[in-house]
Amino acid sequence: MTNTLTTQKGRIHSIETCGTVDGPGIRYVIFTQGCPLRCLYCHNPDCRHPEDGKEVTVDELITDIQKYKSYMKFSGGGVTVTGGEPLMQPEFVAEIFRRCQELEIHTTLDTSGYVNLATAKPVLKYVDLVLLDIKSFDKKTYQQVTQVSLEPTLNFARYLNVINQPAWIRFVLVPNLTDASNNINGLAKFISQLNNIERVEILPFHKMGEYKWKQLRYDYKLKNTPSASPELVNKAKAIFQEYSIEVY
Ligand code: SF4
Repeated sequence: MTNTLTTQKGRIHSIETCGTVDGPGIRYVIFTQGCPLRCLYCHNPDCRHPEDGKEVTVDELITDIQKYKSYMKFSGGGVTVTGGEPLMQPEFVAEIFRRCQELEIHTTLDTSGYVNLATAKPVLKYVDLVLLDIKSFDKKTYQQVTQVSLEPTLNFARYLNVINQPAWIRFVLVPNLTDASNNINGLAKFISQLNNIERVEILPFHKMGEYKWKQLRYDYKLKNTPSASPELVNKAKAIFQEYSIEVY
């Protein structure tokens, strides 16, 4: 297959060349700029505004990505596009993934799913794995955590199931916010009805991103919230296990 050059551009926040937490293996992780959500615990609040960050071309990214191809292959890794919200720049992200697949590099999209399906579909054509962040199953809590509504994310999850798109679900466990049993129970039940979910990850809340909020002079509302304890994580895992869902 020939590599097709393109002048497609987009805005990114940063790149991590040896990521190990955003999909399988060792990954080249691209953090895109711009996000419509305002998660209370966001680690990357500087990704919010679409006009910030720096402009890059897909060609520049692909040239750089190819330097890491051997260890991505060796480790069963690939390229992950996260953010921010990658689906705010659908043409840019689709083109990155299309070019990666031409090079036989595994592609992972990390998204909140807060997008209309017509926007997402052309991107999903080139995605091997979706990491879908469902930040709460309870609607009110979801709105409180993200400042947006839950329904688009659930629609997105249902669509991934319809097209049999391999996906991992990620859930941030925040004490006194997302940890209610009925919230986790609802999420586990919802996931148990999907056939395309390969993995569920609980991400215990911690405050490593707090300093960025301070630097940006944003009000960090979770400053008095404790980190999620191992006991709380185990309690959440046990709820998923009631639905025969293995959690990592
Ligand atoms: S979706 Fe991600 S980048 Fe956007 S506000 Fe939430 S945590 Fe931050």
